Amino acid sequence: MTVRVAFLGLGHMGAPMARNLAVAGHDVIGFDVSPTARAGAAEGGMPVAETAHEAVAAASVVVTMFQTGRQVIDAYAGTDDGDGLLAAAPAGTLFIDCSTISVEDARAAHGLAEAAGHRALDAPVSGGVVGAENATLAFMVGGSEEDVAAAEPLLSTMGRRVVHCGGPGLGQAAKVCNNMILAASQIVVAEAFVLGERLGLSHQALFDVASNASGQCWALTTNCPVPGPVPTSPANRDYQPGFAGALMAKDLGLAADAIAQTGVDARVGLLARDLYRAFADGAGAGQDFSGIITMIRSGSDDPGGRG
Ligand code: NAD
Repeated sequence: MTVRVAFLGLGHMGAPMARNLAVAGHDVIGFDVSPTARAGAAEGGMPVAETAHEAVAAASVVVTMFQTGRQVIDAYAGTDDGDGLLAAAPAGTLFIDCSTISVEDARAAHGLAEAAGHRALDAPVSGGVVGAENATLAFMVGGSEEDVAAAEPLLSTMGRRVVHCGGPGLGQAAKVCNNMILAASQIVVAEAFVLGERLGLSHQALFDVASNASGQCWALTTNCPVPGPVPTSPANRDYQPGFAGALMAKDLGLAADAIAQTGVDARVGLLARDLYRAFADGAGAGQDFSGIITMIRSGSDDPGGRG
């Protein structure tokens, strides 16, 4: 049976994800509130609806890929009575939200969908725009076993790894926890290189030791924040992303929300949030997040000037 998929949010991530579904033979109709995004998708050959209602009217799966939790909840529930996606979709539609949003918002979105007689999953991704284009994303999924099984063929068309993390919101929980580990380890690897510099230790010597010792981690061996030891790391191309500082700052804000909600003593995670916020407010918004080494080296929260 052909499953009609409405794909809403045709931005940097959503456009290539929707295209991969269409190329694999799924019946996909796209929609974005931005006329430019709609025109871009239509030029690429994707059927595009003129309104969100038109997109979801005959869908059995609705995928959303927006920026924020507010956008997801407003789109689901509508801002005026009856104008939301939940009211417009056929009963029992599977809503899959791939946006990175807070655990709390994801649970609220699940609740709204279920109250309206639908099914829901939170399915944030890692792998960035390159992963979206090459269909190599990793999906972290929260929701029921049955709904994950129903979504699996679509998710594995857009990515190469699907992990069912547990019930509603736990896909987002896995995403914020992983990115908190990543942020803190990237910061401390950068601090270690700057400390080594001041002590007269070469980048290569520190790398050769730490990458074969207990300091080994992805932030060092793949995303090495100094040029040289790992030729493919963003440090070798002036910190072009990669994963942009602004996105890391956003994800750490979501981690901080979860920390506040649970009362966990996560001081390192909160400090990482503060440092990445300063980095993204300054020169780092569009740089790879490993570029935070420049801020650490300068000893200032605004190494390259604003903008
Ligand atoms: P983007 O801003 O490029 O795309 C979001 C799109 O959603 C925009 O085109 C916007 O017009 C559209 N939109 C917003 N509200 C809408 C609505 N109600 N109906 C239809 N369309 C609507 O953002 P992006 O870079 O594609 O990121 C999307 C999500 O994926 C974010 O939550 C981000 O944190 C996450 N993410 C991004 C990356 C990345 O590298 N860009 C990596 C992993 C996760």
